[in-house]
Amino acid sequence: MSQPPSPLPFPTSLCHRCAAPPRYVQTKTSTFILCPLLPSKYPPQPVLACALFRPAEPGNTGA
Ligand code: SF4
Repeated sequence: MSQPPSPLPFPTSLCHRCAAPPRYVQTKTSTFILCPLLPSKYPPQPVLACALFRPAEPGNTGA
């Protein structure tokens, strides 16, 4: 799993706390959050509600 970048993009996004787990894809200018569960892969951020959200295990949030 890729490590969450710092600072986090869209800090209010549910994805950061999701067990999916999301992957962080960094370019020179942006960081994208790739969801492994959604067919669209890149949900509009910040994700504030998600039917597929499952809380990540404590201590495994990378935060
Ligand atoms: S399942 Fe939902 S909350 Fe989890 S990473 Fe994918 S889009 Fe984000």
